[in-house]
Amino acid sequence: MSNHRQERSGMTKEMEGLVALVTGGASGIGAATADRLADLGAHVAVLDLAPESASKRHLAVRCDVSDDASVRAAVQTVVEHFGRLDVVVNNAGVGAQGTVEDNDDDEWHRVFDINVIGMVRVSRAALPHLRKSPAAAIVNTCSIAATVGLPARVLYGASKGAVLSMTMAMAADHLREGIRVNCVKPGTADTPWIGRLLEKAEDPQAERTALEARQPHGRLVQPDEVAAAVAYLASPAAGSTTGTALEVDGGMQALRLRPA
Ligand code: NAD
Repeated sequence: MSNHRQERSGMTKEMEGLVALVTGGASGIGAATADRLADLGAHVAVLDLAPESASKRHLAVRCDVSDDASVRAAVQTVVEHFGRLDVVVNNAGVGAQGTVEDNDDDEWHRVFDINVIGMVRVSRAALPHLRKSPAAAIVNTCSIAATVGLPARVLYGASKGAVLSMTMAMAADHLREGIRVNCVKPGTADTPWIGRLLEKAEDPQAERTALEARQPHGRLVQPDEVAAAVAYLASPAAGSTTGTALEVDGGMQALRLRPA
C-alpha cells in the first residue's frame, strides 16, 4: 500500500498537496468534510447539484451523480484544474422513508440511481486518475441504516447496505493497486437533511428534542465528527486500513438501538 506517509513524514498537514473531490459537498456532512480536508492541506473540489452553495474555499463543480456524462465531465474538470486526483469522497445521497409497501419501483430506481450507482459512476470515472496517486483513497458515506433495522427505512437501508458491500468488494479489487476503499456509517446527524425532516413535524423543536433523546448518547451526531472520520480514512495516516466501515453513531450499532 501507499508509502506516501513515509515520504511526507515531518509535514504538519496530513494531506498537503493532495487533491480530493467530495460529492454532495455543498451541504451537511459533505460540506464539513470538504472543509476538514482543506484544513488538512488538500485541494478540494465539491461536486454537487447545487455548487453555488459550496464554500468559496473549494472548486465548485456542478454535477448530478445520477447522470454518467455529468459525472465524467465533472471529474475531468477536477483533474484539468488541479492536475491530479488522490481522494474521492462519495457522499451525495438522498433519503427515503416508508415500509416495503410504500415505495413503488420508480422510487426504488431513483434512490438506487443516486445512492448506489452514483458512487459507482464517480468511482469509475476517478479510478484511472487514482491509479497514478501515491496516496489514493475512496471513502463512501454509508449509514447505520445499512446494519440496523430502522423503522420505515427499507429502501434507504437497502441502498446503504449496497454501499457497504460495494465498499468491501472494491477494497478487495483495488488493494494491490494501492487504492484504499472505506466507508463511514453515521448515525442521525445534524444536517440540513434532518432539518428538512423536522420541519414537517407539528412542533419541530419538540420533535428535535425527542429525536435527540432517542439517540444513544443523547444528542445528534455533528457533521464535523463524521468529517473527522472521513478525513482519517482518506488520509495517509490510514495507510493500512481498507475495506472497513467506521461507525460515527454515538453507539447505535454497538447497542443495536433503533431511533423510532
Ligand atoms: P444534505 O441533504 O445536507 O446534503 C446532501 C448534498 O448532496 C446536497 O448538497 C445535495 O445538493 C447533494 N446531492 C443530492 N443529490 C445529488 C446528486 N444527484 N448529485 C450530486 N449532488 C447531490 O445531506 P447530509 O445529511 O449531509 O447527507 C450526506 C450523506 O450522508 C448522504 O449520503 C446520506 O445518506 C448520509 N447520511 C446522512 C445521515 C444524517 O442523519 N444526516 C445519516 C447517515 C448517513
